[in-house]
This record gives sequence, C-alpha cells and structure tokens, in this order.
Amino acid sequence: MMDDGNCKVAPAKTFSGSPAVVDQRRPGNEDIKIVKSVGQGGANQAQDVFNIQYGLDQVAPIDGGPSPQLKIDGLCGPKTLKAIRDFQMKHFGWQGADGRIDPDKQTIKMLNLKRNRNTMPHLPPSLATTGWLLADFLRHMPHARSCVQAAISTVQSAKAHGPGTSLVEKHYRIGGALAGLNRIEEVYGLMLKVLDRADHYTTLDTTDEGEGISSVAFARLGGFFLPDNAGKIKIREGAWVASNIEDFAAFVMIHEMRHFVERSSDVGHHAKGWVTDEGMQKLRPDQTVFNCDTYAGFALEARNGEMQRPGWVKTTAFR
Ligand SMILES: [Zn+2]
Repeated sequence: MMDDGNCKVAPAKTFSGSPAVVDQRRPGNEDIKIVKSVGQGGANQAQDVFNIQYGLDQVAPIDGGPSPQLKIDGLCGPKTLKAIRDFQMKHFGWQGADGRIDPDKQTIKMLNLKRNRNTMPHLPPSLATTGWLLADFLRHMPHARSCVQAAISTVQSAKAHGPGTSLVEKHYRIGGALAGLNRIEEVYGLMLKVLDRADHYTTLDTTDEGEGISSVAFARLGGFFLPDNAGKIKIREGAWVASNIEDFAAFVMIHEMRHFVERSSDVGHHAKGWVTDEGMQKLRPDQTVFNCDTYAGFALEARNGEMQRPGWVKTTAFR
C-alpha cells in the first residue's frame, strides 16, 4: 500500500468498546461563561472549570496565560489554581489575586478580553475528556448527508440521461459505464446508512491509535461490515480545524466513509486532492471508483455547484 502517511486505513486492531466521553462542550468563540465560581473556595462545577481552563489556555503567557498550558479536564487542581492566580496577578496585582473567578466579575471579563479565540487550546494526550471535539465535528453531518444525497441524485441523473458532460464524468471518467455508475451509487447509498445512525459510526481516538496515521480522522477498511464497534471511524484532534468549515468536515467524513464501506481490499488512496489537481487528473477510471477524495470532491460539487479548489484540500499524488 502506498501512502503519504496522512490518512492510512487503520490497522486491524480490535476496538475495545465505547470510550467514556464526558458531555463537555467547547466554549466556542463567544464569551466564556460560568454558572458558579471557579478556583480557590469556588463551587468548581466541571463544565465551569473546563471553560476556564479552555479560556486560560487561549491566553498568551505574556498576557498571564499558563505555560505550559493546562490540561483541560474539568478538575480544579493546583495547576489550575496557580494559573488563575497568575492571570489575576498580571492584570490586577496582589489585591485582585484571590484565586477565584466569579460569574460576570472582573477576572472573567479580563479573560474574555485577553483570549486569543482562534487559538486551539492544547488537548490532553487522551481525548477522553473532550467530547466537544466529536460533537463539534458531528454538527456538520447533516451537511455531509446533503452532499451524499446530491451525489446520489447526480449519479441517478447520469444513468437516466447519459453521461454527456456531467459532473460524474468530470470526477470519475467512467464514460457512462452502467456498472461503474451502479457501483458509485451503491457506495454513496452505504454512506447514507452510516450517516443515518445516531453516532454515525464515529468515535474519538482515545488511545492515540491513529498517531502517525492521520491527525484528523481515519477509518478501518470495511469497518461498516464488521460487528458493531469492531471498526469505527476515528476522529482525532485535527478534526477541530475541519469543524470550523462545514465543507471541510463533510469532505473528511465522506473520505473516511469511503474506506469504511469498502468491501474489497482497495484502500482507496490513489491520489489526494481536488479534481483539478494533476495527480487526480491522472487517475484511471478503475482508480477513481475507489479513490476516497474523488468521492468527497464529487459530493461537494454535486451539493454546492462547481467549486474553486478549497484551500484546505491536501494534494498528494501516488505512483
Ligand atoms: Zn484515507
């Protein structure tokens, strides 16, 4: 198997069951809020602590942010207490450094002022406490679904009216071959089944199994056909970037689903990129019908109309 190491199909490891993901949500770009006090003598409710840790990690050390960054775990331990005091010292001096953050008071106001909201806080080695990462990514699954549905409609239209200059030909170049069209339609149909299930067959990579495979996501080849939980689509830390761009999230998910619903041994990595990229243009029809990024790019254009090459598409040609 040839690959650039960015999104290999997962090794055939036995999955050990659902991770214990707590239901904590990323604060997002709006102001961080807490319900009760956090810090020295505070109520320290897990979600509040989580939000404060997240916010503090977005503050540069020169502005009183913690260095190294805090582990975002919702637990108010000595490091979090120190980080709160250090932040208060920086901005309010000794008088304001009581180690406690109260709702709507000066420390949280200053925190929201000093946060760099486009900075992703450091995540713990295990993503077990970052259920929001998965939730953030999965927000875009209705969009991914509409892309897959548009792809199916476009393939069906090509079957009914002939290939002509259809979008199918642009991406797959199968010359209107019915077997190919049926194959592509079947694959997208299986993707709908993946998206139909509540968890979309996704889980966080809590064991860092995917380290060195992909920073965003990876899937077990044919995982869809395995008993439940034997294979799932694993979402990793890098999915956070995709979560801010719905087309990106859909692209990632469709790419992974292409591995996930594959019945043969074809890994579906013949080229990566946008359809106009050189490596993608060189693919033969027998490769495009397996190529993960071909499915992703086609579905996006079927849904959105013709698109310029998105900046987040990674280009790799395989030989
Ligand atoms: Zn892949």
